[in-house]
Amino acid sequence: MGIGPGDIEYMSLKAYRVLQQVDVVVGYQTYIKLLEEILTEEQQVISNGMTKEVERCRQAINLALEGEEVAIVSSGDPGVYGMAGLILELVKENPKLEVEIIPGITAANAAASSLGAPLMHDYAVISLSDLMTPWEVIEKRLEKAAEGDFIVALYNPKSKKRIKQVEIARNIFLENRSADTPVGIVRKAKRGDEELIVTTLAEMLEHKIDMLTTVIIGNSQTLKQGDLMVTPRGYQL
Ligand code: SAH
Repeated sequence: MGIGPGDIEYMSLKAYRVLQQVDVVVGYQTYIKLLEEILTEEQQVISNGMTKEVERCRQAINLALEGEEVAIVSSGDPGVYGMAGLILELVKENPKLEVEIIPGITAANAAASSLGAPLMHDYAVISLSDLMTPWEVIEKRLEKAAEGDFIVALYNPKSKKRIKQVEIARNIFLENRSADTPVGIVRKAKRGDEELIVTTLAEMLEHKIDMLTTVIIGNSQTLKQGDLMVTPRGYQL
């Protein structure tokens, strides 16, 4: 299930109700923290580090096979770089197990709403994490999205170890778009301590970007409107 970008108000009612019902909640520590006010002492919570996804999902499946109702939590939407695909791959071995995927507001849409309306036209979502995807593939997708004049939301833009990727991505867009193209940088979107910046392709790297950030690069039509970003859809005004 997806719990949305952070604050509980941005979670679906369905997700909220399911979380109250299940016997076990499985997920990365940071997301479990966001759920503290919903979960009760009777519910079992299984949380461990970010890189142990397969182990965590297997554990969840084993508990479900024992008869427990288990919620596996992803931030945002579980089908967007979340746990939904992995769970479906793993349950192939146990086809009788009932699985339901519960959607959530993904970071791109949460960040976009804080920035105004940058995703009003065709857009692409690209993760800059090359932990599981070869960098050449990511670079090619960046080039095609830039050439195609897509608005682009960058997920996993930069970590302590991955610094160059966001610089290369920015340079690919500079080759295809004007240097003053609006760029929105949203950190902790729809969490109490959200940080928001509207800048340009030329200046975006001067701002803080990390793993809690989504970067939205406008297309050739996107405008800065005060502190906001708007991509006109083409209405005659
Ligand atoms: N399943 C999640 C994405 C997981 S990938 C979803 O649908 O949103 C993790 C990346 O998502 C982060 O590196 C960041 O780029 C983005 N992200 C997740 N939550 C965010 C938030 N509240 N604010 C800004 N970016 C966020």
